[in-house]
Amino acid sequence: MKSLRTNALKEAQNRVSPEVVAPSVKISEFFGSNVFDKKKMKDFLSKDVYEKLISAIEQGELINQDDANQIATAMKHWAMSKGATHYTHWFQPLTGSTAEKHDSFFEPSSEGAIEKFAGSALVQQEPDASSFPNGGIRNTFEARGYTAWDPSSPAFIMESKAGKTLCIPTVFVAYTGEALDYKAPLLKALNALDKAAVDVCQYFDKGISKVTASLGIEQEYFLVDLALFNARPDLALTGRTLFGHMSAKGQQLDDHYFGSIPERVFTFMVDFENESLKLGIPLKTRHNEVAPLQFECAPIYEEINLAIDHNQLLMDVMEKVARRHNFKVLLHEKPYAGINGSGKHNNWSLITDTGKNLLAPGKTPKNNLMFLAFFVNTIKAVHEHADLLRASIASVSNDHRLGANEAPPAIISIFLGQQLNEVLDEIEHSRISKKIKEDNALWLGIPKIPQILLDNTDRNRTSPFAFTGNKFELRAVGSSANSSAPMTVLNTIMADQLIKFKIDVDKLIKKGEKKDIALLTVIKKYIKESKDIRFEGNGYSQEWEDEAAKRGLANIKTTPVALDAYISDKSTELFEKNNVFSKRELHARHEILLESYYKKLQIEARVMGEVANTMIIPAAIAYQNELLLNAKSLKEVGLGKEALETPLSIINKLSEHLAVVKNSIDAMLEERKTANGVEDHREKAIAYDLHVKSHFDTIRYHADKLEQMVDDSVWPLPKFRELLFLK
Ligand code: ADP
Ligand code: MG
Repeated sequence: MKSLRTNALKEAQNRVSPEVVAPSVKISEFFGSNVFDKKKMKDFLSKDVYEKLISAIEQGELINQDDANQIATAMKHWAMSKGATHYTHWFQPLTGSTAEKHDSFFEPSSEGAIEKFAGSALVQQEPDASSFPNGGIRNTFEARGYTAWDPSSPAFIMESKAGKTLCIPTVFVAYTGEALDYKAPLLKALNALDKAAVDVCQYFDKGISKVTASLGIEQEYFLVDLALFNARPDLALTGRTLFGHMSAKGQQLDDHYFGSIPERVFTFMVDFENESLKLGIPLKTRHNEVAPLQFECAPIYEEINLAIDHNQLLMDVMEKVARRHNFKVLLHEKPYAGINGSGKHNNWSLITDTGKNLLAPGKTPKNNLMFLAFFVNTIKAVHEHADLLRASIASVSNDHRLGANEAPPAIISIFLGQQLNEVLDEIEHSRISKKIKEDNALWLGIPKIPQILLDNTDRNRTSPFAFTGNKFELRAVGSSANSSAPMTVLNTIMADQLIKFKIDVDKLIKKGEKKDIALLTVIKKYIKESKDIRFEGNGYSQEWEDEAAKRGLANIKTTPVALDAYISDKSTELFEKNNVFSKRELHARHEILLESYYKKLQIEARVMGEVANTMIIPAAIAYQNELLLNAKSLKEVGLGKEALETPLSIINKLSEHLAVVKNSIDAMLEERKTANGVEDHREKAIAYDLHVKSHFDTIRYHADKLEQMVDDSVWPLPKFRELLFLK
């Protein structure tokens, strides 16, 4: 096996990057060239159908069969003009990746073969997708699953050297209409949000008739050379290193962050950016992140459903393009113990059809009241449903990151920055006096919100949910996650909160209170009620854990327990009321998430056992044998006790570590057998956490000690210094 490492190192050192040629120097000239966007729709559709499609996209209007036929034909013509031979519904099942099943346009007919794409094939498909996770929703007698076209996300062409495929973004639902994917509930949540937010907007501006959420996703990732990756079974099978002593040099010098981008990496970045830009993903930013070989890219924000489709597509494109460069992209939240992990910062705001960002402080006091309404309702929503937000970011891989010293803790809190904190404090303690009411001098009661906020917001990287000038940034999302899960929760809790807000304000108005006074009174009440969720200090500190406990904020460190929030009575009521999830859908999702949790731990445990037993232990024993021979020879030439001390002490130490590794692997195997016998998904996940995963640290600690002792030339696994510094 050592030759695998040696060969991998040789390969990695001799890489030559492929040549990357941009389609044009101006990005604007090729941006979206592989997307059936509005301009192409206009070119390929009749005016009448074009307009209907636009209202389907913008207002959610239904499309009839005839129009669907025309749209399908237009899409086919466009796609074939670009060289596509196949089409696929492109969807996001609960596996976490995207799914596709290609069909060709080609059809034999009596007059010879033709290329065909009917409206019915555009609108709906029934993939035989019985193997996707469904949490018991699809019994065998109703095993059908349907994909249905989402016109709000444009079709695109996926290119590969061997061929091109027209991809149609779709939702994926069961025969019963229940969601089997990430997109369907997100669309429902956005619908609820739109309605609730428009209703609240009416207090301020009757001209607003639609509110959409916007999202900008910053994506962190690691790169590793493909040959080194393939020489590490743990990386290849689990996405993270289960063994490996930290390299002497890690990130302690901070010399990677924002540093000059290594040439080979830069070439890869340009390549995947070009591919992404052709797909209409508006990538804008690239830079080195904190850890060695860790990077980040970020697009310009977009409507949220599109932003998430684009992020899912981006992850796929990155991985595909990486192959051409002999890199592997690691999207795992914690590929390497001892250095930073990766997240996916979700920058979220609410935008009206009049172009106003509801989370941007306005110029006039009246605008500021509108801002305050949405701002404070967000805080209140997160305060009410912090447990659900926590559940929505929970995964076996994100458990490694949350609460480690580089990512937000598992405690949900909100950071506002000093200025806005003061504004809220001021409102909380102000008196909405009779005099103010009578003089109509309300506006004096609203503190001024400085205009320079945007450039001036404090940056607190330790907060899971931070206000950054004109948007909230949810930073606790894992780098490999589908953002739909947390965004479905965030938009649902916001919708629900806005509905409650309207009820509370209307009640006061009905009692005879002036509208603005009523608004301010409720805002003030909410500020008080949600105060505990606000925290400005260092989220990494022990003091915060203690303080949060005093405030009664939850600090749930592991996924199986965090997921409970999905099926609580409170959450069920919330989701049912807002028509996002039924109780059955929630239970199904809960089960799928638990299953994924323990299955991933099961895989990790197996890989750990195999690598330890077949690679690490044999390497250590081989080295030990060498030392034994050495000791024997020393003795034979007549050297005494003193000379033998060194080899014998190393032999002894090796034996000690070997014994712990071997015994812990065996003990872990027994625990796995017991855990596998547990029927209930939640109990099983907890058993895996408490009794199987609990062995990982011990096994690793002693295996890593062996790594530090054994002759480097016989060690089988590429070391951290090689994985992290060969570029
Ligand atoms: P950083 O948070 O690192 O300072 P930026 O301010 O540039 O970075 O923004 C990060 C992401 O937030 C980008 O994707 C950007 O497009 C997005 N963003 C900026 N403004 C908004 C907004 N109003 N709503 C949603 N996302 C936004
Ligand atoms: Mg940011």
